[in-house]
Amino acid sequence: MCGIFGIFNHKYASNLVYLGLHALQHRGQESSGIAATDGTKIVSHKAMGLVSEVYTGEIIKKLIGTSAIGHVRYSTAGTTNLSNAQPLVVEYAHGFLAIAHNGNIINASILRQKLESKGSIFQSTSDSEIIIHLMAISKKKSTVERLIDALKRVNGSYALLILTSSELIATRDPYGIRPLVLGRLKDSYVVSSETCAFDLIGAQYEREIEPGEILSITAEGEVSIYPFKKVEPRNCIFEYIYFARPDSIVFGRSVYVVRKALGTELAKETHVDADMVVPIPDSGIGAALGYAQEVKLPFELGLIRNHYVGRTFIEPEERIRHFGVKLKLNPVCEAVKGKRIIVIDDSIVRATTGRKVIKMLRDCGAKEIHFRVSSPPVTHPCFYGIDTPTRKELIASSHDLKEIRKYMGTDTLEYLSVEGMRRALMRVGGSNSYVFCDACFTGKYPIKFPSQMTLEEVESIASRRVLSRKKEPLIIGIKRS
Ligand code: AMP
Repeated sequence: MCGIFGIFNHKYASNLVYLGLHALQHRGQESSGIAATDGTKIVSHKAMGLVSEVYTGEIIKKLIGTSAIGHVRYSTAGTTNLSNAQPLVVEYAHGFLAIAHNGNIINASILRQKLESKGSIFQSTSDSEIIIHLMAISKKKSTVERLIDALKRVNGSYALLILTSSELIATRDPYGIRPLVLGRLKDSYVVSSETCAFDLIGAQYEREIEPGEILSITAEGEVSIYPFKKVEPRNCIFEYIYFARPDSIVFGRSVYVVRKALGTELAKETHVDADMVVPIPDSGIGAALGYAQEVKLPFELGLIRNHYVGRTFIEPEERIRHFGVKLKLNPVCEAVKGKRIIVIDDSIVRATTGRKVIKMLRDCGAKEIHFRVSSPPVTHPCFYGIDTPTRKELIASSHDLKEIRKYMGTDTLEYLSVEGMRRALMRVGGSNSYVFCDACFTGKYPIKFPSQMTLEEVESIASRRVLSRKKEPLIIGIKRS
């Protein structure tokens, strides 16, 4: 969970990256950084906090250059501290280089051990630094060739931007798990995790960086190569369900249109008689609209979100997260009192949000609450960059529908089925267009675990690597019926 943005050949490169990062803020709120080059040197600034807190006009002015890359970070691997903030900037035998990464390297600890045993000294605990070390030991002549050498050893997901004195490189892993799009702003090239950043700066969306593509942009123009074995893409379905902004085009589809289609399918599969449909804002809104339109029920804003707090889930500490739901959402009692409500959320992870929301609505006098989820039960951890590292945190991995319903305190609870989710995606993208990683719902991981490691072993490495977070078993206190 990170956002990356880059621009090549623009007088105000850092300014535009700064704006782009604002648009990508939802992808990570822990830290942010920008690295810029004028072709002779590289300058960078990184700090903990939101984009609006990290930069001032003075700082941006010092980030001189005509090409720049930036990053907003939410750590899914490595500790939460400044040394892990990106872009990582290094000087090595071939000059300077900055890297911004969105994704997760599954064999990071194995590669790191190997590199350290040969003398590499790491400055951070971030996965992404491994790519730099692998590039540094490559004997190849060009940056792109060194990058290919490095990526051949990497097992995992990546959308990457690399900036050198004369080149901006953009690449996605062969499965295309994380998104990355290319755009143009007059004579400049722009690359971003999501198109909403292009809208902000007035850039034209051109296309996705293809899975497995390495795109090199220099003063001579752009060159694309596909050095890896072609595999069937596996775009992350969770980008549509929760993560990406609804005004973005991701993997060729509008996030908003997909969310509405998920809501339509949900209504077809699980509708129950009620007075109104209420979304959990913001990420439940698209699905709730699709649902309400399908069953011709009023769509009401029975819950209001305070936009001046971050995403609750994004707070690393469990205790803060519990408090966070109240900080973020407040019911409109006048709208829900005495009513039979269908509450729609995009997903249930720990069920913290749903449980609190249901209590709030009941306290307001809602007559019936029917909780509907526009995705299937999240039963498996993500190792590709979404923050759900272990099964013990996922309520649906150890509890059935009846138990979850009881825990949440809702009158009824239904999820969208995996088939319904696939139908929704194909309704928007066309038949046979379902090319998604849905391992969080199915346990079918597209990338083989390193050297025959089991799910348990990968999971234990993943949970050890998220070092700073105190992850308590989520479901303490629920009585198994
Ligand atoms: P929970 O309260 O743990 O069930 O989390 C569910 C809520 O968090 C939903 O309202 C989602 O919008 C949101 N959410 C789901 N998955 C994630 C994720 N991986 N990271 C951050 N927020 C999430």
